[in-house]
Amino acid sequence: MQDSKLIYFLQTLIQKESITPNECGIYTLIKEILYDFKAIEVEKNGVKNLFLYKDFGEFKKDSKHLCFGGHIDVVPSGEDWSHSPFGGVIENGVIFGRGAQDMKGGVASFIFALKEIKNFNGRLSILLTSDEEGDGIYGTKIMLDELKRLDLLPDFAIVAEPTCEKILGDTIKIGRRGSINGILKLSGIQGHVAYPDKCLNPIDLIAPLLSYLSSKALDSGDNNFSASKIIITDIRSGMEVVNVTPSDLKLMFNVRNSPLTDKDALQKYISDVFGDIKFDLELKQSSYPFITDSKILIDSLSKSIKNTTSLNPNLSTSGGTSDARYFSAFGVEVVEFGLVNDRIHAIDECANLQDIINLKNIFVDFIGNLDSYE
Ligand SMILES: [Zn+2]
Repeated sequence: MQDSKLIYFLQTLIQKESITPNECGIYTLIKEILYDFKAIEVEKNGVKNLFLYKDFGEFKKDSKHLCFGGHIDVVPSGEDWSHSPFGGVIENGVIFGRGAQDMKGGVASFIFALKEIKNFNGRLSILLTSDEEGDGIYGTKIMLDELKRLDLLPDFAIVAEPTCEKILGDTIKIGRRGSINGILKLSGIQGHVAYPDKCLNPIDLIAPLLSYLSSKALDSGDNNFSASKIIITDIRSGMEVVNVTPSDLKLMFNVRNSPLTDKDALQKYISDVFGDIKFDLELKQSSYPFITDSKILIDSLSKSIKNTTSLNPNLSTSGGTSDARYFSAFGVEVVEFGLVNDRIHAIDECANLQDIINLKNIFVDFIGNLDSYE
């Protein structure tokens, strides 16, 4: 009965076209379900954030506070779906729609998990934003600022992003790599292709250096992180003609960095590669790498996954950034676990209904494990 309500709720969520930063009344629906939770809402620059919490008994200094984090916004659907992207159509045990995997499925699962909990030695909460797929500036971070001000920051958080690779239960994310964007510019002297000696061709300058840049590993990684690599995303120069050498060149790249390489190390590496060649470099760190070493979180969750799916999950830090980084920055121990991510942001995004129910069961079990962890 509860399970069919969960699926119906997910269908309702998918039917709301909550493309970033639109919230489409979803928070009202959630507050109705978790009616005995207290609400704190923060709205800034069109982004709506919701925090709901409930104390099970008296909240003491050493009580645990576990928070489920997530986002209710989705990316635009694009064309050529086989089912309406905001229809929530169910076919052969699969629900179709934008956000089914990323991450309305996860959100619906943890809301219904919380509904089932009768006892917990502490506080349970959820933190939702309508701006994860956008810039994220006024989302989770703003809400965590507010929680810090109110002395309501959780001890532990689990973000229900779709983390699994092939089947539900195969992967927990225990951290994420950071991200550094780079723009490098070279200047030369433009001229006639027949008189190369009178020109300074920036393409000639960079050509012998490319093998030291393209896919270059800056460290060798470790048990938790793969190597930090320079990935070139764009090189442009010239005027699309064959008789003029260009006056400048622009190279763009990104490094998904482990804690073994930081922005300064990257800057120094590039300076060494270019030696005497003059260049202009702009590096921007858009997120920092983090890792959780919280045994209680990882053990409790792994045990619940094993109980429900009989899998031993891999502990991974792969993939892009997520709002888990904000929890980490506020000193909250955080892991990520959710559905399979094989259709996220894609056409015909869909999720297996049994996975949604199993995910809810994993969360219920996990809350119990965390509660009784010595
Ligand atoms: Zn997501």
